Amino acid sequence: MAKGVWVIAEQKDGNIRRVTLEAVSAGRGLADKVNEEMAVIIPGTGVEGLADEMFHYGADKVYLIDDPSLKEYTADGYITPLFNLINENQPSILIMGATSEGKDLTPGLSARLKTGLATDCTGLDIDGQARLEAIRPVYAGKAIAKVIWPESRPQMATIRPNVMKIGTPDKGRKGGVIKVETTINPGDIRTTVKEIVKSAGTGVDLAEARIVVSGGRGMKGAENFKILEELSDVVGGAVGASRSVVDAGWRDHQFQVGQTGKTVSPDLYIACGISGAIQHLAGMSSSKYIVAINKDPEANIFKVADYGIVGDLFEIVPVLTEEFKKILAE
Ligand SMILES: Cc1cc2nc3c(=O)[nH]c(=O)nc-3n(C[C@H](O)[C@H](O)[C@H](O)COP(=O)(O)OP(=O)(O)OC[C@H]3O[C@@H](n4cnc5c(N)ncnc54)[C@H](O)[C@@H]3O)c2cc1C
Repeated sequence: MAKGVWVIAEQKDGNIRRVTLEAVSAGRGLADKVNEEMAVIIPGTGVEGLADEMFHYGADKVYLIDDPSLKEYTADGYITPLFNLINENQPSILIMGATSEGKDLTPGLSARLKTGLATDCTGLDIDGQARLEAIRPVYAGKAIAKVIWPESRPQMATIRPNVMKIGTPDKGRKGGVIKVETTINPGDIRTTVKEIVKSAGTGVDLAEARIVVSGGRGMKGAENFKILEELSDVVGGAVGASRSVVDAGWRDHQFQVGQTGKTVSPDLYIACGISGAIQHLAGMSSSKYIVAINKDPEANIFKVADYGIVGDLFEIVPVLTEEFKKILAE
């Protein structure tokens, strides 16, 4: 019988990603509810040093899939050892972050495991029959679906970054480390990562940023995004964009927020010159606080905004930047 709550950890530059801490904290809560063990798998190269942090956040066991060919993420390299380990141990629940890596890895893995996958979940719970119940927005956020897995195991879900709470770490907590034997043939990995180019800016990942400053067609040109970058730098955020901006070639697609771009869920989303089309709202409406700056008082974005500023963004944004600078300096 399938047993245990498992999380697939993700690391970047040798640090566990924030969404993994969210997944581990959520996993701990679920494991306590069903009275089962919680385990974390860390795939990568030289990842042994990351195990302790997983115990601090609630893991009972950590499986290390440590192999030189897993230095950079590739679906070919990661899926087979993950599949072998999961298939052998039959966990009941399997969670990962809905990051680019999670979105790429989990569909292939769920197909290999012959189980269902609920993507981009904003809530996870246990129902009356000790089954996972996943909550996920559908139809561009217009409706909420509750997903259960009546038969297939593991019950597999990815979680939207920045939505679930991270538990308080217990630095005295320890657990068991299991080093997984791998037999990865580098020749089976069909993709070669030649170079990773870091994007300019604060270096804060858009999907995981706590503050996102986004610009729409109202920015009027690529050069004007400088004022959003200045604001974002001051508050330690990331700059996003609407699809119109991306289509116009003012920003790269990696910065697009919305149905066909990234889903973000920051503490604060500042929408500048964005009308608030449903496809844009699909990517940011779960933000904790939304501030909209738009010169049209009838703009749809004001319907979802917690705070609305009707006016010219070219006057308002620089004032906000200066005010934030002053407040943060204090
Ligand atoms: C299948 C499909 C998928 C899509 N996916 C996405 C997606 O992922 N993300 C996305 O964003 N869109 C997406 N879209 C497009 C979406 O429908 C809208 O066209 C788009 O979001 C509009 O972008 P915008 O708000 O920047 O531009 P507009 O709708 O043109 O709005 C510009 C706003 O700027 C305001 N403004 C202008 N000047 C100023 C100023 N000086 N100061 C303040 N305000 C000003 C205007 O009042 C206006 O409200 C998708 C569409 C389709 C059909």
